[in-house]
Amino acid sequence: MVIGVSGVQGDFREHKWMIEKLGIETFVVKLPEDLDKVDGLIIPGGESTAMIRIMKMTCFFEKLREKIEGGFPVYGTCAGLIILAREIENYPQESLGVIDIKVVRNAYGRQVDSFDEMIEIKGFDKPFKAVFIRAPRVEQYGPDVEALAFLNNSPVMCRQKNVLVTSFHPELTDDTRVHEYFLNMVKEYKVN
Ligand code: GLN
Repeated sequence: MVIGVSGVQGDFREHKWMIEKLGIETFVVKLPEDLDKVDGLIIPGGESTAMIRIMKMTCFFEKLREKIEGGFPVYGTCAGLIILAREIENYPQESLGVIDIKVVRNAYGRQVDSFDEMIEIKGFDKPFKAVFIRAPRVEQYGPDVEALAFLNNSPVMCRQKNVLVTSFHPELTDDTRVHEYFLNMVKEYKVN
């Protein structure tokens, strides 16, 4: 099993280290053809506007959408969540639209307002320290979306089939449980 980490922009190294800590091989994906070399993809936090612009320049965007629609597992944190969402507010921009959520960018304030909070995640035995950095807020989610964790009544971790998103950054902690959750999604996909 090889986990791809999108190296287009953002904090991809931290995700890479997290997966490697779990004993799984990683590959930094930058070009559309790289997507065929991996069994799943993590899109990190960063700047969604820049990521989308670069992804569109190389057709990475279109190829990724096709793959996700075919069942390829993907996990987006923060800016990665924004890219995967159906609809973006503040300000509107194009996205992959592969998870039925409507998000508001930078909804928890500016960089100085970054914070962390212990949250309960469905299926996890102990609370998880969630780090938020200029995080997007999920305002609405459709019936096919499972909300796995909440903060102040807004979902902060959601899954729709092969698409997982968190508005927080587990790669900035020592806790590998969210990454393990994603690895299980990838294993399921490989078996079926
Ligand atoms: N505010 C950023 C954006 O809109 C996301 C911030 C992050 O990924 N930490 O793309």
